Amino acid sequence: MGAKTFVQKLGVILRWDHIVESAYTTTDEKKVYFRLRRRRAIKQMKQILPTESQEQVAFMQWVDMFFNGNEEFVFAIPNGGLRNVLVAKKMKAEGVKAGVPDLFLTLARGGYHGLFIEMKRIKGGSTSKDQKDKIERLRNCGYKVDICKGFDEAKKSILEYVQMRGDK
Ligand SMILES: [Mg+2]
Repeated sequence: MGAKTFVQKLGVILRWDHIVESAYTTTDEKKVYFRLRRRRAIKQMKQILPTESQEQVAFMQWVDMFFNGNEEFVFAIPNGGLRNVLVAKKMKAEGVKAGVPDLFLTLARGGYHGLFIEMKRIKGGSTSKDQKDKIERLRNCGYKVDICKGFDEAKKSILEYVQMRGDK
């Protein structure tokens, strides 16, 4: 951030603070102020929270410990992230599909053929239309699909799944 931008931003904040403290400020102006502050707080929070990728890396470290050498049990399906057009086209031709969940657990439990996990950030992640569509299709095919917000939810999902009785 350049010096000018910083001073400009500081100016805006000071002006807003002055507006809110002023006895002449209307309720509407205060509302706008707090909405902006809230937006800023959310932006800051998003920067602090781990990304989806960081959550997934941490989770896979735990998974590797939990399944202890049985690498075939859980693997990632890399269909997200930014790619250049050529690579994306090639991957699509090779069968990569948009919206397929991030991870797959190959064990059958509780009448399900396997467990898909769609990993999200703790806050701020949303499920896309493609993802909703694929999740519904996979559920119809007899798989369990959990959308997990962060490491803890994903861990809970797997622990509950593997403890279910019956492998079909
Ligand atoms: Mg995801």
